[in-house]
Amino acid sequence: MNHISHWINGALVAGTSGRSGAVFNPATGVQTSTVDFASVQEIDSAVAAATAALPAWRATNLSRRAEIMFNIRNLVQSNRNEIAALLSAEHGKVITDALGEIARGLENIEFACGIPHLLKGSYSEQAATGVDVYSIRQPLGVVAGITPFNFPAMVPMWMFASAIACGNTFILKPSEKDPSVALFLAELLKQAGVPDGVFNVINGDKVAVDRLLEHPDVAAVSFVGSTPIARYIYETGTRNGKRVQALGGAKNHMLVLPDADLDMAADAAVSAAYGSAGERCMAISVLLAVDSVADALIKKVQDRIPAITVGPASDSKNDMGPLITAEHRDKVAGFLAGAAAEGATVVVDGRTNVPADGFFIRPSIIDGVEPGMRCYDEEIFGPVLNVVRVKSYAEGVALINDNQFGNGVALFTRDGGVAREFQFDVSVGMVGINVPIPVPVSYYSFGGWKNSLFGDHHMYGPEGINFFTRSKVVTSRWPDPRTSSVDLGFPQNR
Ligand code: NAD
Repeated sequence: MNHISHWINGALVAGTSGRSGAVFNPATGVQTSTVDFASVQEIDSAVAAATAALPAWRATNLSRRAEIMFNIRNLVQSNRNEIAALLSAEHGKVITDALGEIARGLENIEFACGIPHLLKGSYSEQAATGVDVYSIRQPLGVVAGITPFNFPAMVPMWMFASAIACGNTFILKPSEKDPSVALFLAELLKQAGVPDGVFNVINGDKVAVDRLLEHPDVAAVSFVGSTPIARYIYETGTRNGKRVQALGGAKNHMLVLPDADLDMAADAAVSAAYGSAGERCMAISVLLAVDSVADALIKKVQDRIPAITVGPASDSKNDMGPLITAEHRDKVAGFLAGAAAEGATVVVDGRTNVPADGFFIRPSIIDGVEPGMRCYDEEIFGPVLNVVRVKSYAEGVALINDNQFGNGVALFTRDGGVAREFQFDVSVGMVGINVPIPVPVSYYSFGGWKNSLFGDHHMYGPEGINFFTRSKVVTSRWPDPRTSSVDLGFPQNR
């Protein structure tokens, strides 16, 4: 059986804790690997490697850091098919979806290639007579990223690209359910010229996470995962004096107004509810259908479902793969099983006609859903679309704003005035107007509101640069400089 260990100080390091986890191919249900779970001592050795690498890395000039980011970009791009295959074998998502994830992650590396520009400070000449004042941004030190199973390539790229470009050294603790992509990326970063110790991967569970949260030499923690763990990470990390951004779960609504193009809305609802088997934090999980068009819209969504092919990623004709584990598949199935008792109706039941092996569930719809039902109040994180019928735009917005989550939301309408009102009123961090999955491009930043994000900084983009740096302001006065020398060579940095 394949064995997955850690990456510390530029090399694979076998685990010594004696604890490990099982990694499955979710499309077959067969265990393919064991992954080492780090001990406190192993975390400490990764932090020691990152601490030792920090002085030279943060002193590496910006041209060289940018060159390394370009090298990483080119290596990820040229190895994308290998990364997609590895990702799909442990996560289950189909190859086109895996390639899409890698492409969106790559955008963050491309953004970080502009690090010389991104770290420019400000300068005020003659703040007082002969006195200038300027601000600079400096790295935090050793920083950690803790990532979820559902984007094993993209979410680490959200974090490490900005973190290391800013001059920090980085420890990644990937999901124990699909850890191989992280180690593959570690090899690519080494090839790209990232010095040993600047990027480390520690596999593990709560033991590893807790040690990172309390280690005195870890300056900041960036987390993406479920809301209860995000809250725990934020509270524990900040209590220990760390800067923390912790992104949590979601329940994304799509409000369809009577004037919307219903075919476009149905296409969008199906793509956003069932893509990646609904295991996306920006998936649409609640369709808010205004009464007058609700029946027509639901029929259009329902009519599109039989065309979705469900099966392993190894067959390129499949649109949708399995869920991550048998336990998660059973949990999702439980929402369908419990719906009727709560007064809702399962109009498309994905528990039937599934492939014999693996952790599959097919696209499903629960109609007649209302707040207070479990399937509405909790994050399902599977291919289950809840339909809530509302009387008006106002009732739809009130429901969205009452929800505990505020990650993504979408409005479908042809009315620009209402769309503008919606963006003004809605208590959600990422808003789509006729766009079902409004994941911001890399030069904006990603983040939800309410229980979808704990902390002050959104992820990647300009807020990512701010998260991974701190500002320093210098006030200076100089005598007239008399030092100079002659050098006819063209000035350069390498
Ligand atoms: P999870 O919270 O179970 O795990 C995330 C990470 O936390 C993993 O690395 C895991 O090992 C670690 N972890 C788990 N339990 C822990 C504990 N008790 N103590 C310390 N660490 C622990 O999340 P998941 O199931 O891997 O991912 C799915 C969740 O992530 C969903 O809720 C989804 O909405 C959310 N998510 C959010 C975003 C976002 O941007 N807001 C993006 C992707 C996923």
